[in-house]
Amino acid sequence: MKYLDPESINQFSGILLEADDRFSFRCHSGLSCFNQCCRNLNLFLYPYDVLRLKESLQIPSGQFLDHYVDVVLREGNFFPEVLLKMDQDEHRSCIFLSEQGCSIYESRPHTCRLYPMEQGFFFDSKTNQARLIHLFRPPAFCLGQYENQRLTPLDWMVDQNATVYSEMTSYWAGIKRLFQIDPWGSEGPAGPKAKMAFMAVYNIDRFRDFIFNSSFLKRYRIKSSIIDRIRKNDVELMKFGCSWIKLYLWGIQTTGINLR
Ligand code: SF4
Ligand code: SF4
Repeated sequence: MKYLDPESINQFSGILLEADDRFSFRCHSGLSCFNQCCRNLNLFLYPYDVLRLKESLQIPSGQFLDHYVDVVLREGNFFPEVLLKMDQDEHRSCIFLSEQGCSIYESRPHTCRLYPMEQGFFFDSKTNQARLIHLFRPPAFCLGQYENQRLTPLDWMVDQNATVYSEMTSYWAGIKRLFQIDPWGSEGPAGPKAKMAFMAVYNIDRFRDFIFNSSFLKRYRIKSSIIDRIRKNDVELMKFGCSWIKLYLWGIQTTGINLR
């Protein structure tokens, strides 16, 4: 998911797809390019990607972040991003790539599911409306574009079990948009507030521990039904983390969470 400037939307390389537009694509292990797209990547992970990957690997979110990612702050951004580490081999292969293909295929990240289609999300400041767009951008080496399967963006999303990923990434994009303005003040993006906000969406096992084993519940009044849900359910906890960030950083009220 990219954040796009409405002015520059027509300058992107690739084909801008409307909902009914079709593109040719089919990926399979019989193509000579098989696995080539899993090398030399800058693969950013969204909070829901991390949640699914740490579940699949059966490790806590903190361990996943320590072992598998670099946390980077891109110029012009005020919220750190999470970049999957690549192998140090000559190809810079993805650490999850095996000879048979992706070793975590069922939990592969959102970007991998949709590739070589990309989703972009931008907000029109004049109408205050969000618009989701799709770009078809296969690199020259990707031979799947010459196969004869014809797909709409939705066909491809359904085929790749990416619908829930798109929903969750869109949800996160709504929060991430708020970070176009620096919320950190003199603390900067490495200060205590930034660490708390990062934990709430990316390191959710630690966030759960923080909620239930600190003075958090003394400082915030939270509906008991929400407490029950976030105790057990990671997706609910991640959504709660997003809502809490809005209240914590910008004072935006959310149903069910109040300062005491
Ligand atoms: S996560 Fe899987 S699909 Fe994505 S780049 Fe790595 S090996 Fe390829
Ligand atoms: S390069 Fe394209 S066709 Fe080849 S494996 Fe990757 S996505 Fe599939």
